[in-house]
Amino acid sequence: MRQLTGDQFLVKQINSSIVLDLIRTHSPISRAAVSVKSGLNKGTVSNLVNQLIENGLVEEMGQGESSGGRKPVMLSFNQRAGYAIGVDLRIDMVSAVLTDLQGSIVQQIESSLESIESELVCTVLSRMIHELIASAPKSHYGVVGIGVGVPGIVDDNGMVLFAPNLHWNNVNLGGRLREEFQIPVVIDNEANAGAQGEKAFGAGTDRDHLIYLSVSHGIGTGIVINKDIYKGASGYSGEAGHTTIEADGKQCSCGNYGCWELYASERALLEEARQSDTLKEAAKAYIPDGDDLRLEHLVQLAESGNEEARFILKNNGRFLGIGIANIINIFNPELIIIGNRIALAEAWIAGEIRETVARRALPYHKDKVQVEFSHLNMGATVIGAASLALTQFFDKMRVSVERST
Ligand SMILES: [Zn+2]
Repeated sequence: MRQLTGDQFLVKQINSSIVLDLIRTHSPISRAAVSVKSGLNKGTVSNLVNQLIENGLVEEMGQGESSGGRKPVMLSFNQRAGYAIGVDLRIDMVSAVLTDLQGSIVQQIESSLESIESELVCTVLSRMIHELIASAPKSHYGVVGIGVGVPGIVDDNGMVLFAPNLHWNNVNLGGRLREEFQIPVVIDNEANAGAQGEKAFGAGTDRDHLIYLSVSHGIGTGIVINKDIYKGASGYSGEAGHTTIEADGKQCSCGNYGCWELYASERALLEEARQSDTLKEAAKAYIPDGDDLRLEHLVQLAESGNEEARFILKNNGRFLGIGIANIINIFNPELIIIGNRIALAEAWIAGEIRETVARRALPYHKDKVQVEFSHLNMGATVIGAASLALTQFFDKMRVSVERST
């Protein structure tokens, strides 16, 4: 085996990742087309493709159209060479998926949470992950990683430092899952995972600068600048829900006063709705015995023509629009994607959000920005979490493919 120098090794590593990415995004594609698109010579492409075939990531799939001479053998990415698990941990439920290497969902399961106590939540997560691993079809790589989106601040090792709505401090979720499953684990903030999901598979695939706004019990943002998630100096960026919009406002669980999420989140919306006796009375038609009034009920009331429900939803749209205008002025994004639970109320809040943004954002800033709702709806975080695990797998794969030459 010829020893590669550091520079040669790096060049081959980069070339291999270029070839794999081209085959992943352009299947079916011939070796000659990979050579043209990458600018690498045919011999180099051929060697790299052979390694990828040996590693199970690329398959030959019959002959394509000829442009003269011999028909070329077409290559495709083998998305079933392995699987990833994505988990969306919420405060009242856990959603989890098994995806193939292209992020397509193979299996999806959900579990409600009786308590947010960390031991119990970890037990539920662990049971669900075991179930998904057991359901994974046989494959070359098996389950290559687990990604988890968490409503809180997470460090690089997967330690959940602070999750106010779960009442968690320093829960070593990453370490625990790594030890139990012995496969790579990535834990990130749920809004970052959602932004990753939208960027990879949703409304943001062709956008370089976007903000994903996760609105449910609280509000978080995943910030994509120049195609990458911006995580800040310590990895804690995006806590837009705790920016102040009312100087002498209500006190927040974070210790500050007048935080945006106290006025614009799903929780704020429901608190207001639950204060109205007439609304609660009208909602009885939709609520099974003993249940609290939920966002779904409020949307049903609005659809049935209830003016009070419509007013409360519209007001929520106004408060969302105020914070979104702030974000637009700071980041000058191309796209704001509103996701998570509040997307259920799109029909009743979208107009007011867009009008408020039009009234409040700076003229040059609002000129190009689009405000959209998530195409992935409830799935952005869970798919994004799987995508975090996949990204880590492909990063490692590039290195190991090269090392085996
Ligand atoms: Zn706060």
